[in-house]
Amino acid sequence: MSSRTEPSFRESVDLMFNRAVSLMDLPPGLEEKIRVCNATYTVRFGVRLRGAMHTFTGYRSVHSEHMEPVKGGIRYATGVNQDEVEALAALMTYKCALVEAPFGGSKGGLCIDPREYEEHELELITRRFAYELAKRDLIHPSQNVPAPDMGTGEREMAWIADQYARMNTTDINARACVTGKPLNAGGIAGRIEATGRGVQYALQEFFRHEEDKAAAGLSGKLDGKRIIVQGLGNVGYHAAKFLSEEDGARITGIIERDGGLFNEDGLDVEAVRNWIVKHDGVSGYPDAQYVENGALLLEEECDILIPAALEGVINLSNAERVKAPLIIEAANGPVTAGADEILRKKGCVIIPDMYANAGGVTVSYFEWVKNLSHIRFGRMQRRQEEARHQLVIDELQRLDDVMGETWSMSPDFKQKYLKGAGELELVRSGLDDTMRVAYQSMREVWHSREEVTDLRTAAYLVSIDKVAKSYHAKGL
Ligand code: GLU
Repeated sequence: MSSRTEPSFRESVDLMFNRAVSLMDLPPGLEEKIRVCNATYTVRFGVRLRGAMHTFTGYRSVHSEHMEPVKGGIRYATGVNQDEVEALAALMTYKCALVEAPFGGSKGGLCIDPREYEEHELELITRRFAYELAKRDLIHPSQNVPAPDMGTGEREMAWIADQYARMNTTDINARACVTGKPLNAGGIAGRIEATGRGVQYALQEFFRHEEDKAAAGLSGKLDGKRIIVQGLGNVGYHAAKFLSEEDGARITGIIERDGGLFNEDGLDVEAVRNWIVKHDGVSGYPDAQYVENGALLLEEECDILIPAALEGVINLSNAERVKAPLIIEAANGPVTAGADEILRKKGCVIIPDMYANAGGVTVSYFEWVKNLSHIRFGRMQRRQEEARHQLVIDELQRLDDVMGETWSMSPDFKQKYLKGAGELELVRSGLDDTMRVAYQSMREVWHSREEVTDLRTAAYLVSIDKVAKSYHAKGL
């Protein structure tokens, strides 16, 4: 164990920020203005449950309002604290800037273990929390738009949206006050899978660049690559599922709260997920080796490590032993500043959180736009697109008829080509484009500036530059 002490999460984010900003030439004072968190609101509220008054503590932190609304999820976990929400709010600022989602950064949290409450109790708590935030414009379609995070999902977002609508009965844009809602309550197709899907698109893009793969000592395709994933929650589950089912990667390890599973031949993600739902953990799962101290699997041989759970899991105590040549940070802040330095020295390539998990906020952006435009994506053009494709198919069919044996359309071409894009296809295409463009902006900085030796610094440079430019445009 190292004698160095670990900084807090927020300090860790600041250290990474400082490292990048030292390579920039910002006007005096602007660096400090960008780094600091503008405001954090702490609320303590009571809810009458089980015959007694229970007091809850929640936070909403606004890191940067260089663009409004500000955006970021609301987390339900017992460990939530001011330092953590401020760190997460800062990451939201950089994340939104990097993927060009036109928002400032924010984050919220409630100190609660949601598993200890019944659904109707959670509804009362969530509605009261939402009321406290909304009455201070900390939930508002043009000021502050929350979304799901750890411990929250569609259900909580629907309660929040409804609470806001009750408090703002004449606001035609009320639904845009929160994203990650269920489809029937103003949500968008593809939001639940979005963060995991974004991780998949990020890796696909990384694997398109020989030079980048070489930096991690990797080659070839994603097909057959050994992946260890920590956390089979919404993000880890979708990332692992898509990477194994669609890209042919092998999920050799899965780490959960109660331990880890390992199988060199690859785990069936769907089966493990079903097992967890049924048995409240991975222990006892038949087709794998069970490791009680799951964290040890972070140190196992693999090609790609995907921490998709908590912050700070790769730290000074284990970084030296982590063998993965490529880490993609699906969680926020899973690698501490000290661990980052150790891993960089070892030659490990890290695809940083602010890029890797930006799929969620990207699709949140699409949902917010959908809510403000009051129309589903694809509704106007889908059938028209299909009709135009039909014209091409008709022409090809004529050709097919006269060519006889020599030529014919491939069997499923007609069906595939005819299908106009619905909302889900459009969302995926928008997300894929976002992830590709953002990666290219990072890698350009990574490869063109000698002093930039890692993707995280490159990501910070791209995003801080964008934030600085928007301050500049405001005359600051
Ligand atoms: N909680 C997610 C994140 O950390 C999503 C935020 C959002 O969609 O606003 O990026």
